[in-house]
Amino acid sequence: MTYQNSVSFRRDLHELAELSNQEKKTSEYIAGKLREMGFNVKDHVGGYGVTVDIDSGLPGPTTMIRADMDALPYPDENDPEKTVAIHACGHDAHCGVLLGAAQELRNTLKKGKLRLAFQPGEESLTGAQNMIKDHVLDGVDIVVGSHIRPVQDIPFNTFCASVNHVACATAEITINGKMAHAARPHLGINPIEAASQLITAIGLIKVDPNKSWSIKPTQIHSEKGATNSIPSYVKVIFDIRAQDNEALQQILDKMKGSCRALKEIFGAEASSEIIDYCPDPEYDPELVDLMKKTIVEQFGEKALANDCGGGGEDFHFYKIANPEVRTIYFGVGSGATPGLHARDMHFDDSVLPLASQLLVEFIRKING
Ligand SMILES: [Zn+2]
Repeated sequence: MTYQNSVSFRRDLHELAELSNQEKKTSEYIAGKLREMGFNVKDHVGGYGVTVDIDSGLPGPTTMIRADMDALPYPDENDPEKTVAIHACGHDAHCGVLLGAAQELRNTLKKGKLRLAFQPGEESLTGAQNMIKDHVLDGVDIVVGSHIRPVQDIPFNTFCASVNHVACATAEITINGKMAHAARPHLGINPIEAASQLITAIGLIKVDPNKSWSIKPTQIHSEKGATNSIPSYVKVIFDIRAQDNEALQQILDKMKGSCRALKEIFGAEASSEIIDYCPDPEYDPELVDLMKKTIVEQFGEKALANDCGGGGEDFHFYKIANPEVRTIYFGVGSGATPGLHARDMHFDDSVLPLASQLLVEFIRKING
């Protein structure tokens, strides 16, 4: 078995950490290791994506297993003007797990086809869509994804069969006011005052209380200039999350209404633009049950954790692009602490060989 190699693959990839859509070295490393294993590798799929197709030659479903590749940006501790890439979300682990499973997946395949898909640009929410444009979904019936989970979600060395992400969006609202000398505020329209009211109004938006949602401003910018001058504009960035696509859309519509009201109240023109969007998951219940069964069979009842949730994932664009595709996304209890996206996120990578094993045994039930 090659599962143990997932740890060294992950450690090598950790050192190569690269930002979204810049995963050149990561891509070369993955393609190189797959070629060493004797696979026919396709690279530059949707940017730095790497895929391998394995065909049993017999009829059966085509299952794509997706691992994301990118790291996150943080200020350089030696030079705050510079940015460094750090694998603070564990995508190095996901590639390590799939690489560690690759040879056993080939041995396991008895019917249908497998496609191993190493996807760039998850954090920028662009990678899945870029790979889809490059035909990664052609002929695919099932897509499997996974993510390491932090201590807050599920215990170390356990697995959950379904990670219930949320629908999320980032909206940039631009409020145009009217510049004036601060001594004559009645001649201007102060976009900062308008923004403070808009932030309050948007914070009061409500949707179905049976669903969870959150709306919060995460950045506010205005022009640099004299402190005794009313600025001409303000930009406010909002992060919006909701349990499903419908609730997210309702919030976005109500935000637009709040922007329109600003004109009446302040005379300030406000426009909102969605700069990021991620749909909610729609997993296949049979596949989720199959995963639960596999977890219990491989590691016992105690290893089956409750489903966990939160966060967004561009994985769900695969289902949006082809609603016929059946998806599943399992969670790996890695003990990641203090939490995903924390600069100093760390976890016990001894769980990775088990994740490779779980993946192979799950695929055996579909394509074995
Ligand atoms: Zn992630």
